[in-house]
Amino acid sequence: MPARVLPASSLGRRLVLATLTFCALFTLVTVTVRTGSAWNGNLTAMTAELGLIDQVFQRTLSKAIWEMDRETLQTQLDSVAQAAPVGRVQLSIRRTGRAPEVLGRQRAERSPSPLVPSLQRMLTYEPYPGASETVGELIIEGDERVLWRRLLSDVASIVITQVIQSLLLAGLIMWMFNRSVTVHVRHIAQHLGELSPANLKQLLRIDRRASRRDELSLLEAGVNNLQGKLSDFLEQQRRDELDLAAHRDRLAELVEERTAELRAANSRLEELTRSDPLTGLANRRHFDEMKDVEFRRATRLGQPLSVLMCDVDFFKLYNDTYGHALGDRCLQVVADTLMKVFARAGELVARVGGEEFAVLLPGADLDQARKAAERLRQGLAAQAVVHATSPVAPHVTLSIGVAQFDPQTMDRFDLLLQCADQALYRAKSLGRDRIAE
Ligand code: GH3
Ligand code: MG
Ligand code: MG
Repeated sequence: MPARVLPASSLGRRLVLATLTFCALFTLVTVTVRTGSAWNGNLTAMTAELGLIDQVFQRTLSKAIWEMDRETLQTQLDSVAQAAPVGRVQLSIRRTGRAPEVLGRQRAERSPSPLVPSLQRMLTYEPYPGASETVGELIIEGDERVLWRRLLSDVASIVITQVIQSLLLAGLIMWMFNRSVTVHVRHIAQHLGELSPANLKQLLRIDRRASRRDELSLLEAGVNNLQGKLSDFLEQQRRDELDLAAHRDRLAELVEERTAELRAANSRLEELTRSDPLTGLANRRHFDEMKDVEFRRATRLGQPLSVLMCDVDFFKLYNDTYGHALGDRCLQVVADTLMKVFARAGELVARVGGEEFAVLLPGADLDQARKAAERLRQGLAAQAVVHATSPVAPHVTLSIGVAQFDPQTMDRFDLLLQCADQALYRAKSLGRDRIAE
């Protein structure tokens, strides 16, 4: 099983990081925009509050000025100055023929600010209906610290809301992604990692509701389709390999058969090159090979070696009388007789001419050779192949020359053959159908 390589980072984590980065930028923009709007809202609210204070105090202040009630005037001014949004209050009392008298209240540490709203109003008094007198001027300015405090509280709540919202969003995305993507992707990776030719039939199953149809379903179908094709391919390959092996075996058998046939044909060919086609006896070539072998053996071991040279008597006459085909048949009977008489191991009969045969008799001396030649002569007589025109007998006869190898006088085999030939010649001269030495 291949080692499981855990991913260095997960897709879900990267997605969350991207979401958080986006949320942070979004929060920054949102906080900036909402802070501006909170500042404007606070300014409007403060202006409204100053207006309300003005409405509450303007009548009593106008009356106190008209009636020169200084005590009430001071009390009213203190009340206005103590109202929460007020930073500074200034009252100018006007009297005809006199310079305006200015009374004011201000928060100790306050410095004048162009940011805060202020309200300026002319105070009038109606001593009786229809008579309106201007008695002074009231200026109320807001407190800047109140503005900043309110803004700070607004910004804090905006930031907290945005951060919580972003974290919740990122968490939700992570949870959703993990549940619907990461888990399945890891399962698919594990499945693919464990795949081998042996378990290709084990299909990929994504563990979730069957009704879900999305990219993961496509991936699942694709993997299973690929596995199916691979499995079919391997099956086909296995079948092809079996076929191939069967063909190979068949081919080997054929080669074996052909080789055996060739070997048989070869040995048959070899036999043909060494045998005479008419009689099946060894031919002159084979005889020449064997005569040297036997000559060397006899020389080496000092064993006797004899040779018979046989010639069919008046065979030309036979052909003339009975035709060439019967002549062939006659030669075959002579050959059969020769093979029957000389069937012992080591004895070799060969057709060395048209109607001439030579017999190699290893281990046989002249006497044994002579007796063997006699057996041959009688054997052929027993075959009684009719030769009506032969002057020596009514049947086919042989003249046979016998010679024994003499190591003292013969240093090569041809001398022995010459001897046998001369003996044959003698047999012919002496009247045929006989053996001579
Ligand atoms: P001799 O007694 O002196 O041996 O007389 P011969 O007639 O046997 O000897 P000659 O050499 O005059 O004739 C041999 C004949 O053998 C001549 C030839 O036509 C025949 N002959 C040689 N080979 C074959 C053969 O394969 N088949 C047949 N039918 N005849 C053959
Ligand atoms: Mg002859
Ligand atoms: Mg002859």
